[in-house]
Amino acid sequence: MSEGILLFVEQRDGVLNRTTLEALVAAQRIATETGQKLSAAVFGSGVSAVAAEIAAKALEAVYVVEDAKLAEYTPDAYTGALKQVVQQLDPKYVIFSHTYQVRDFAPRLTAALNKSLVGDCIGYKIEGGALLLTRQIFQGKINTDVSVSSEPPIFISFQAGSYRADQAAASESASRIETLSIDMSGVEVRSKPEEKFQEAKQAVDLTQAERIVSVGRGIKSEENLRLVKDLAEALGAELAASRPICDNEWLPMDRQIGSSGQTVAPKLYLAVGISGAIQHVVGMKNAQTIVAINKDAEAPIFDIADYGIVGDLFEIVPALIAEARKSQGQ
Ligand SMILES: Cc1cc2nc3c(=O)[nH]c(=O)nc-3n(C[C@H](O)[C@H](O)[C@H](O)COP(=O)(O)OP(=O)(O)OC[C@H]3O[C@@H](n4cnc5c(N)ncnc54)[C@H](O)[C@@H]3O)c2cc1C
Repeated sequence: MSEGILLFVEQRDGVLNRTTLEALVAAQRIATETGQKLSAAVFGSGVSAVAAEIAAKALEAVYVVEDAKLAEYTPDAYTGALKQVVQQLDPKYVIFSHTYQVRDFAPRLTAALNKSLVGDCIGYKIEGGALLLTRQIFQGKINTDVSVSSEPPIFISFQAGSYRADQAAASESASRIETLSIDMSGVEVRSKPEEKFQEAKQAVDLTQAERIVSVGRGIKSEENLRLVKDLAEALGAELAASRPICDNEWLPMDRQIGSSGQTVAPKLYLAVGISGAIQHVVGMKNAQTIVAINKDAEAPIFDIADYGIVGDLFEIVPALIAEARKSQGQ
């Protein structure tokens, strides 16, 4: 009978992906609430440091799977390896962080095993002993609880930012680290990794800013950015943005706030035309005061805003600029 929880540990060049620790928090809590044992699996070549880092957390065992074919990530090798690990350990739940890598190979793996994958979850509930997984639909406007009726193992991935990595429970003594042998000889690797993508160098350190005016897709066009630049200037604030603005190259990447941008905690965060997707919120929710301007009263940003202005930013921002300038005697 399938039992226990297995956490997939993602690493690159021997460095742990920090979102694994977020998924670990979910895994630890599900393990405690459902009375199951939690273990983790690390793949690669020379991954003992990552295994030791995870073994310092509260779990039963860390399984290390090393093979030359796993030295660099490829979907074929990872699918082949995790398939064997799952078959050996027979867990009830396999938990991932919803990273690009996991999105690449987890659907292939679960299809190969003919099992269910509930992807991009933001939370879970236990109701009547059953695990319900919470997912967002309609661009984050509605949350749904999903129950899985198919046979375990059930594969689950958690969205970045859904849990806080610093809440991962540490173990009193290091957990057991065990080498798991699998046979990779029959696994054909059909792709060759290219040189790794180099992220843009960070030129602006928004973490030090006391005030931030952040702009989202509600601004509609690059020309309209003038409006929020003026607001930032009038308030003595740094300008930041949600991801679509940086993806469009309207502002440089180092101004992006969120799970794939900077994490900030200013005294004031003014979100202009930003919906409040979890990947954005994770980067700014610790701001002391959050003010949101959005024409949609149901936008999720209002859930975390201290002050919310429901309305058209093209009317509100000019009024704010005028007031800010007036108060400074300009
Ligand atoms: C792996 C991954 C990582 C990601 N990382 C990040 C990240 O680091 N940072 C990030 O921001 N996103 C990130 N995203 C994207 C994220 O999921 C959202 O798509 C993004 O944050 C949405 O940006 P937005 O709020 O500007 O746009 P939208 O969601 O399109 O929202 C625009 C908002 O503007 C409002 N609006 C429109 N017109 C007006 C008007 N005239 N006046 C007032 N309000 C108006 C709308 O009501 C809406 O709420 C990531 C996604 C993935 C999958």
